Amino acid sequence: MKPILDMVDKAAVLAYLRSRSLIWPDSEGGCWTWEQYRTPDGYGRFTAQGKQYYAHREGFIASGGYIPFGWTVDHVVCGNRACWNPDHLEAVSNEENVRRARNKRWARFLKEHRAALNVSKKLNGSVIEPAGANQ
Ligand SMILES: [Zn+2]
Repeated sequence: MKPILDMVDKAAVLAYLRSRSLIWPDSEGGCWTWEQYRTPDGYGRFTAQGKQYYAHREGFIASGGYIPFGWTVDHVVCGNRACWNPDHLEAVSNEENVRRARNKRWARFLKEHRAALNVSKKLNGSVIEPAGANQ
């Protein structure tokens, strides 16, 4: 039988989350990684009294964080979606979250294509004709 968790009891929620997470020391990044069920996109999730909750949202709220209606909680420090350390989280509007996701995708693109970009810089932007183009 599953224990009954009162979601209004913040201390109980924190104890519940802690008991099911890998708590890393600050010296090692400090992520509090949810070790139970994760959604396909990597967020920690659990069920209490028939309702589903995200570990990072509930951890944020139980730690005194406030999420305005319609806002999301961004993993602003670590990018680790299974993490619920409130020091790594920030409530953001959907607009801001979308903007950040776009920036992250752009940063990832630049990182992945760094080698190619460096090559084009070394060539000072000169265009290389494919072999045999002038024949
Ligand atoms: Zn984290």
